[in-house]
This record gives sequence, structure tokens and C-alpha cells, in this order.
Amino acid sequence: MIDIELPPGDKWRLFELQALGFRDFAGVRSDAALDPFRLAKFASLLVVSFDQIKGISVEARAHLLGSGSEKWSGGACSHPLPDGRRIVILNPNHGRMRTNATLMEEISHVFLGHQPSKLKVMAENETGQTISRDYRKADEEAAYATGAAALVPFSALRRFVLEGLTSLQIAKHFHVSRELVEYRLKVTRLWGTYRAAHSTR
Ligand SMILES: [Zn+2]
Repeated sequence: MIDIELPPGDKWRLFELQALGFRDFAGVRSDAALDPFRLAKFASLLVVSFDQIKGISVEARAHLLGSGSEKWSGGACSHPLPDGRRIVILNPNHGRMRTNATLMEEISHVFLGHQPSKLKVMAENETGQTISRDYRKADEEAAYATGAAALVPFSALRRFVLEGLTSLQIAKHFHVSRELVEYRLKVTRLWGTYRAAHSTR
């Protein structure tokens, strides 16, 4: 194997190594975009479109896709199907770039072996409550951070920063939001280098 570059900090090194494992499993090149929709089946997750869900009232649907839409991004259902797969529902309003991060987090929970701690009601409404699996706070951080690292790996991120790419250009390359790239720049302590490269003008 060629040298692996890891970010500073034990916790972030661990997240990075696990994320590299996911990328290796997906067979994706070290600087290429990872498609979590292709990886989902290996995590026994079945991504179902919101429109396929039956039994949601007109009011609940209007709430979840209207005024409540910013309050949820998606989640895995608590009850597995007979074949062991779990259904994941993603907010159809959020666009592919945000959805990639949400789905990657769910995949991380599975690959990292997290056990849901309890059931949690995701959306407040009287008629069509959406039940999601809830994890312990440490597991949430690990799943999100590892998922983000799988989508935007440190080595390639560092190289793109040194080449002078903007966060938006990097985001487009990895098919993620600019916010996710900037989160990765901060947690991997590349933010100072990035800012220095883009501060003039
Ligand atoms: Zn989670």
C-alpha cells in the first residue's frame, strides 16, 4: 500500500482509517467520489423513496415536505424486513449532495456495528409519526464523522487544498455539499491552510 496520510488527532485518525476501509470495500479510487447508493446494499439497507411510503396522511406529508422539511434528513426504520434489510427513507427535498451525507451516515452506523439505543419520534405530528432508530451521542458523532471522511478523504482533500481548489470545487468533485467540505477542512485542521490560500483578493 502507498503511504496513507492521516489527519491530526487520535479520534480523527481512527475515523479516517475506518472511512478508508469503507472506500476500500467500495473499490473506489483514493481521490474519486464515493457513491453511497452503491454501498447501501452491502450494509443491507434498502433506500425507499418517500413517495413509496403508504399510510402517511395528506397533512403529515404536507408537513414533512413543507414547513417541517428542514427538521429531518432521513433515517433507517427500526424494524428489519424478513430478509434482514432495513429500510432507509431520505428527504426528497434535500437534493443529492445532502442526501449522500445522510445515507453515508446510515451506512456508517451499520458498518461500525452501532446498536440503536431506543426509538425516537422524528417528526412531530398527530397522524403519521415517523419512527427512526436513535443512537447514542458518541455513535452519532462517529457515524457522521466517518461517513463524511468516506465521502471526502483526507489525502485527496489535502492535495486539492494545496492545489488551490475552492471548497465549492472540491464539493462538486466529491458530490457533496460545500458545508460538508468545510466541516472536513475544519476537523482535519486544513482550515488554516485553506483560508491562507484563499484570503488574498
Ligand atoms: Zn445517525
